[in-house]
Amino acid sequence: MSTSYLIKNVSVLGGEPTDLLLKDGVIADGADASADGAEVIDATGLIALPGLVDLHTHLREPGREDAETVETGTQAAAKGGYTAVHAMANTEPVADTAGVVEQVWRLGREAGYCDVFPVGAVTVGLQGERLAELGAMADSAARVRVFSDDGKCVSDAVLMRRALEYVKAFDGVVAQHAQEPRLTEGAQMNEGELSGRLGLAGWPAVAEEAIIARDVLLAEHVGSRLHVCHVSTAGSVELIRWAKGKAAKDKTWSVTAEACPHHLLLTDELAATYDPIYKVNPPLRSAADVEALKAGLADGTIDIVATDHAPHPHEDKDCEWAAAAFGMLGLETALSIVQQTMVDTGLLDWAGVAERMSAAPARIGRVSDQHGRPVAVGEPANVVLYDPAATRVVDPAESASLSRNTPYRGMELPGRVVATFLRGTATVLDGKLQ
Ligand SMILES: [Zn+2]
Repeated sequence: MSTSYLIKNVSVLGGEPTDLLLKDGVIADGADASADGAEVIDATGLIALPGLVDLHTHLREPGREDAETVETGTQAAAKGGYTAVHAMANTEPVADTAGVVEQVWRLGREAGYCDVFPVGAVTVGLQGERLAELGAMADSAARVRVFSDDGKCVSDAVLMRRALEYVKAFDGVVAQHAQEPRLTEGAQMNEGELSGRLGLAGWPAVAEEAIIARDVLLAEHVGSRLHVCHVSTAGSVELIRWAKGKAAKDKTWSVTAEACPHHLLLTDELAATYDPIYKVNPPLRSAADVEALKAGLADGTIDIVATDHAPHPHEDKDCEWAAAAFGMLGLETALSIVQQTMVDTGLLDWAGVAERMSAAPARIGRVSDQHGRPVAVGEPANVVLYDPAATRVVDPAESASLSRNTPYRGMELPGRVVATFLRGTATVLDGKLQ
């Protein structure tokens, strides 16, 4: 018989304290007599949120098991409060066939820390030349609904149009890494006064904005769903706000967008350290861009927070800036960064956090039958218990990830994930993996 948990005095989404019973994989009434024999958790001062859902995780397996595996990546996810992650397709081999996406999906089931939903590549080998077997991946056991060449942009407008048309057949979505390749050749950091001073090649905002502008128009033209990955500039927020204004009146417009925690907190000034821990794609932007992203996330222009968790082994990050890999860890710190930048600043309440880190990403990824549900009686017991009053200093050595490339090393962050439950089974208790 599986353990059941009686969670006492928990504040659901910051509301009045109540008791919740997690039993047989679902949430039951804490006043239920069947709570007898349940393990009791005193949750005084803790907030209950629906298990978080990440639409943008790099698990690196197959092929780069020196950076991360499905097991270690989903352990990091559970510690961060996640019960589901979408695993990006830029593995080796690329997840561009039913065989590879089923392998990743199975590895997730075997590890058991959270549900793993593989993202399928849009083009064969991420080469941007011909479409991958999108239908076969959709029909596979992995039931792929999100398609992305993330790491690379689907820059060919005809291929992007075909992909958008194709995924309509199975209610899929194309998640675009918006980066005009010719405008970003050799790019190392945000293009601006600082990139000139540091002598690092610039990654201009227009290279992101031009692709977003094109793609919202293409998606409207074919009546398909577009999702924009890691929005990083004020201009991008403005474009998406414009497209959403259209969508409010006309159903043929359908665009959703994500922002990453690091783009809500960190700025391009950090590149002046020449420490590649801050090298990421798209790059850290200006303080004005950070403010525009936060405002866009607050007003719903940006639908979700996604981590872009990108583990890299020591040797790929501990080198000269220009030679270092792009990317940073994110799963174990995302909720704290969102608390610091959005909740503690009054921009979002906890219901808003649950919408942007659980319900909305589950809807976009078409997994909302199981994830992103309300924390309510009768719903699947995917729940995170969070202590917003705690603080901690980030120590990379404590990470469950195989990699250590966190830009928050040594920083004091608010909040702590106390427990994570996947269908009523504790994956994390008292902050520790189970
Ligand atoms: Zn990307």
